[in-house]
Amino acid sequence: MTLDNILVEIKKAEKIVIMAHETPDGDAIGSVLSMYLALKKLGKEADVIVKEFPRTFSFLPGAKNIKTKSDIEKYDLAISLDCADLKRLVGREYFEKAEKTIVIDHHGTNTMYGDLNFVNPVSPACCEILAGMLEYFDISIDSEIGSCLVAGIITDTGGFKYSSVTAETFEFTAELLRKGVNVSEIYQRVLETKTKSSFELLRRATNRLELLEGGKVAFTYINKKDEKEVKAEPGDHEGIVENGRSIEGVKVSVFIREKEENFYKVSLRAGNGSNINVSDICYVFGGGGHPRAAGATVQGTVEQVKEKLLKEIRKAFC
Ligand code: 5GP
Ligand code: MN
Repeated sequence: MTLDNILVEIKKAEKIVIMAHETPDGDAIGSVLSMYLALKKLGKEADVIVKEFPRTFSFLPGAKNIKTKSDIEKYDLAISLDCADLKRLVGREYFEKAEKTIVIDHHGTNTMYGDLNFVNPVSPACCEILAGMLEYFDISIDSEIGSCLVAGIITDTGGFKYSSVTAETFEFTAELLRKGVNVSEIYQRVLETKTKSSFELLRRATNRLELLEGGKVAFTYINKKDEKEVKAEPGDHEGIVENGRSIEGVKVSVFIREKEENFYKVSLRAGNGSNINVSDICYVFGGGGHPRAAGATVQGTVEQVKEKLLKEIRKAFC
């Protein structure tokens, strides 16, 4: 079975590289770091490639070992975590050249681009998949690995509040608490602490927020100029889209962020009680994600991107 084959490949490989999706969030960071630490326990020193590392997660064990690039051209094994498709993978050049590739993910839209693919769309976080996987591999989850895993679980479940949370999520977290992982502190650091720049971005985005389609759509944006003016760092935009989602009556919250000239990174969230599948909407634009949280990159100005998105969102309302 795939899991056994994954362990065989890991044990066989000498040069291993681990990577995740662009603009990494807590689940991406928690996944790569926990995998890095777990491989260490098997006697493997892997490279972890991450660009735009958010400062929020720099307290996590292993964070200091992260690289932005490597001198090794051809790895024996490349492991992609929490990334649905090859075009969003940071370090894809290493992935494409590697002898063997493994994809571990929880996005329903995963394109199965590895030699071995372990994808569970029901899992609320890639970190939760890894928790089960490490257990299966008989690698004991110590408090360092546990801290990384719980950081990913907390961020991808919005602090255990999304409907994707399972009984296992709580059981695993309880287990970590017993092992001495400071879940409360990790929660405070990853969800309840904002950099000042992040707060300034949120303030701007909140001021601009529009309620459209009779209050069913919340829309806001930030551009490069905003990020420059508030001296934004990687990850500072995280959470802005959640703001619109919590407004009464909002079925879809839209947040767009300028990626490069005339291209916006789109984040969509389904509002409370909304049955709109935002992953389907993002799929139209070549993106994807989860039914209640998804993204894509869309070309145009703020107004043009807004109109393109509204057109698809209106269809979903019918
Ligand atoms: P966010 O809005 O936080 O960037 O992303 C929400 C979810 O959608 C995450 O699970 C993320 O991995 C996924 N996602 C965001 N952008 C894209 C994209 O362009 N393509 C795909 N396939 N998934 C995306
Ligand atoms: Mn994830």
